[in-house]
Amino acid sequence: MEQKLSKETLCVQAGWTPKNGEPRVVPIYQSTTFKYDDSDQMARLFDLKDTGYFYTRLQNPTNDAVAAKIAALEGGVGAILTSSGQAANFYAVFNICEAGDHIVCSSTIYGGTFNLFGVTLKKLGIECTFIDADAPEEEIDKAFQPNTKCMFGETISNPSINVLDIEKFARIAHKHGVPLIVDNTFATPINCRPFEWGADIVTHSTTKYMDGHATSVGGVVVDSGNFDWMAHADKFPGLTTPDESYHGLTYATAFGKMAYITKITAQLMRDLGSIPSPMNAFLLNLGLETLHLRVPRHCANAQKVAEWLEANPKVKWVHYCGLKSNKYYELAQKYLPNGSCGVIAFGLKGTREDAVKFMDSLKLACIVTHVADARTCVLHPASHTHRQLSDEQLIEAGVAPDLIRLSVGIENVDDIIADLEQALQSI
Ligand SMILES: *Cc1c(COP(=O)(O)O)cnc(C)c1O
Repeated sequence: MEQKLSKETLCVQAGWTPKNGEPRVVPIYQSTTFKYDDSDQMARLFDLKDTGYFYTRLQNPTNDAVAAKIAALEGGVGAILTSSGQAANFYAVFNICEAGDHIVCSSTIYGGTFNLFGVTLKKLGIECTFIDADAPEEEIDKAFQPNTKCMFGETISNPSINVLDIEKFARIAHKHGVPLIVDNTFATPINCRPFEWGADIVTHSTTKYMDGHATSVGGVVVDSGNFDWMAHADKFPGLTTPDESYHGLTYATAFGKMAYITKITAQLMRDLGSIPSPMNAFLLNLGLETLHLRVPRHCANAQKVAEWLEANPKVKWVHYCGLKSNKYYELAQKYLPNGSCGVIAFGLKGTREDAVKFMDSLKLACIVTHVADARTCVLHPASHTHRQLSDEQLIEAGVAPDLIRLSVGIENVDDIIADLEQALQSI
């Protein structure tokens, strides 16, 4: 598409441009394999000399069309879908890190990512230093080591709803010669495009707002194409020296701005294989077609619910960056001027049992291990998603033990508030 299109149009149309007589809607290429007329054509694909499909573990046309839509929405040069958000964050880091390397990460991140970086990467020989994202720059600088290979944070953290100062993080990362990876799951490119603030790589759990209907677990890694790997060639040998497993090809010289995404496809997908099914990519695309309509409604509803909760005497605290009283209000105004997300964190006056009773009394809002769904849902991270963490780790991750995570859906907001009201009356 030559014309510079707005986000709304990209949501509906990007990624799939049918030729004459082809299906208007992106087809589900539910095929593991692709046919060629002669052996030489297939060989050229294996050498990465031609582009084309040969096996769905590496690439699939449905998946690629949907990845291209997300790349367009984020303003990146390329993207790859993964089978989950966890796989996306693992690939984003593992693509440029190996045993003996180190990463610097905000401590307020999703519990699954916290375990992945703090426990599982450690088993692979990659160390992670978690830092307070709100600390002064000089303080964060101290976490960097000569073997540090990237910096990581979430635009809006799950479930603590802290807003990341992306420009500050990008400045720090670049000062130390490493890329900034931002998990943009909660904000979505509708509300924030981290590349515009200096991030180099963006990831998503597409399971959340992008799918939006709780049908398909998935993830995506998007590359801005802006990080100059060759300028830091000694730090990133995987991109800047020949890959023995690919006939001695050097990604940075062979693929330029597409080096990072090509390496994920050619190496990590080949060897680890966390691809989404084409059917799931198709469902994700249906979600993306209305992302620009759903996200503003999630935000408007959440704003009203947050204000209502804040005014309720049974509520001890409310954490939502759209509230003027919130610590992150200023940062949200800068990075998320059109709205943040539909997720609110709050705590009730009373005991932990009261919190459980309140949640059990909700009728419209369901208790589910999910967030960012069209349906309003609720979760108690300390007893659910984050139950592996100690109280100390919980607090470090910005998750108060009494925190209730409310994911406000796109129903009529008066119905949502009425449900919260009747449940509060039960305690
Ligand atoms: C849910 C989530 C993940 C993990 O994604 P899955 O699709 O569940 O694997 C990663 N980051 C954030 C911010 C999330 O909310």
